[in-house]
Amino acid sequence: MTDVKIVEPTIFDLSSPGRTGVTMPASDVPAADLPPQHLLRADLPLPELAEVDVVRHYMHLSKFNYSVDSGFYPLGSCTMKYNPKINEDTCRLPGFLFTHPLQPIETVQGNLALMYTMQEWLKEISGFAAVTLQPAAGAHGEFCGVLIMRAYHKSRGDHKRTKMIVPDSAHGTNPASAGMLGMSIVVIPSDERGNVDLEKLKAACDDTVVGMMLTNPNTLGMFDEHVEEIIKIVHDCGGLMYGDGANLNALLGIVRPGDLGFDVMHFNLHKTFAVPHGGGGPGSGPVGVAERLADFLPEPLVGIIEEGDEEEPPLFGFVKPEKSIGRMKAFHGHFGGGLVRSFTYIAMHGPDGLKDVSQYAVLNANYLQAKLRDTYTIPYDRICMHEFVAEGRFEGSDVRALDIAKRLMDYNFHPPTNYFPLIVHEALMIEPTETENKDSLDAFADALIKIAEESKSQPELLHSAPHITPFGRMDEVKAARELVLCCWLPENYSDQ
Ligand SMILES: *Cc1c(COP(=O)(O)O)cnc(C)c1O
Repeated sequence: MTDVKIVEPTIFDLSSPGRTGVTMPASDVPAADLPPQHLLRADLPLPELAEVDVVRHYMHLSKFNYSVDSGFYPLGSCTMKYNPKINEDTCRLPGFLFTHPLQPIETVQGNLALMYTMQEWLKEISGFAAVTLQPAAGAHGEFCGVLIMRAYHKSRGDHKRTKMIVPDSAHGTNPASAGMLGMSIVVIPSDERGNVDLEKLKAACDDTVVGMMLTNPNTLGMFDEHVEEIIKIVHDCGGLMYGDGANLNALLGIVRPGDLGFDVMHFNLHKTFAVPHGGGGPGSGPVGVAERLADFLPEPLVGIIEEGDEEEPPLFGFVKPEKSIGRMKAFHGHFGGGLVRSFTYIAMHGPDGLKDVSQYAVLNANYLQAKLRDTYTIPYDRICMHEFVAEGRFEGSDVRALDIAKRLMDYNFHPPTNYFPLIVHEALMIEPTETENKDSLDAFADALIKIAEESKSQPELLHSAPHITPFGRMDEVKAARELVLCCWLPENYSDQ
């Protein structure tokens, strides 16, 4: 691999003594004594720059970023759809922006009304009896859901249940969430159609099973053809059925997990309902539960504590479910960044619009799969949901999925997810989302077909890609193992 030397100037290289970007106003309070001398530093390692220097520096750096606003972003499982800008306007409305979670409830009735409505909408969308908005993201929602499953069994005096069943096509966070609670994981293989192997599932089900965590559609982009049978098998041995709802983008307005018989499910608002995520954006992982689990939800939920009438609106406040597992988070979830944005998205679409979202997401994925089928091996080749998985390798060639992913950057596309799911060799997991038009899907398919040709004619071009990006091929292992997190500090800095 090429050894990349980063030559970008740091903000310290740009510093010039005496240059400044702010003018301090005259003090309007009396001067106080400074702390004792031994607690003071003579100088701070701060760069000295004017406002324009800072703006240009960061603008320059931001142009290295690839974003969903700058191009196609088919990162499978992540649902990188375009985030409508009206969401940004609403979450910045002063009434939402300048409130604090500890304010008296009478002063934040609008916020509470929004949260209450969101709980109701998510119930309607998913078919569950009750919803909490607290969890911070998908994996946190899973952890919350598994805590609820455990609390349910314990409340019935059923203490021997310690096993969680997870198919090999599940998202990696599923076994991790159950494992964090000390449960042992029983992995069930997929059959040749990408469904859960029913015989193996039956063999694993007994009275020590907490339940099963099913990602559906799974990480192959397949809707399990026996989902109702699977749920029945798990219920018959006294287990609960967890649905990983991160892939809900394929199902909106078409099928409701609650109606299928799932007992608990997390949503990924940041994926399904257009909240910018990745690179540290806020997640939001509400959890929906069936009636028999509603008492175990984390506290507090938003409820109506005084009914309204024709003249007065209802009074919203916080309520505690009877056997609550407790809090999942300080305060009430990611309000502005998560809930207000996704509330806006749902309100703008309405029920018919949400159904369109899923139908276009599924159509786009199937269109791309059909265009690529003759060039790339699709190991589980049937009608897919919102994403599909191809193999990034060709017979007789040493080109790998990583080479294809890097070469796509030269064609100005963000690479798809690669090397996941683990059950496909050299996986390329492609999720176009509903927000792409036919032109961009065609251009992406053309690029992948061109790359397949290049793999025969000029394989070295792929091995050394990308070529047009500011930095070439990175050593990703080194970057992960030898983290340099403070390269912005000047070389001679010491905090002693
Ligand atoms: C993204 C994802 C998760 C985890 O969600 P986070 O918000 O990233 O924690 C879980 N399951 C599936 C299928 C996912 O795609």
